[in-house]
Amino acid sequence: MMRSFALRSLLSSDAVLPHLAGLRIDDVVRSGLSIRTAVTTRVPEALCPVCESPSRRVHSRYGRRLADPPVSGQEVLIHLGVRQFFCE
Ligand SMILES: [Zn+2]
Repeated sequence: MMRSFALRSLLSSDAVLPHLAGLRIDDVVRSGLSIRTAVTTRVPEALCPVCESPSRRVHSRYGRRLADPPVSGQEVLIHLGVRQFFCE
């Protein structure tokens, strides 16, 4: 297992990977043929899915496991930390 700080710098570059602009890269680990990343959302608020009011009050946190297309033939696994907000 090897930590890849250069890869973390690349992934955190909004100019290179703009679809990751809303995420904070917490960790990147290369293990065998896999690249595992831990990321969390960094948006300060979210809209309620019912009334569409914005909220900044965090209710809870949970994790999701995602797979991204391979990078240079290496499997990419993403652990995404997500926050749920209270409706105000
Ligand atoms: Zn609401």
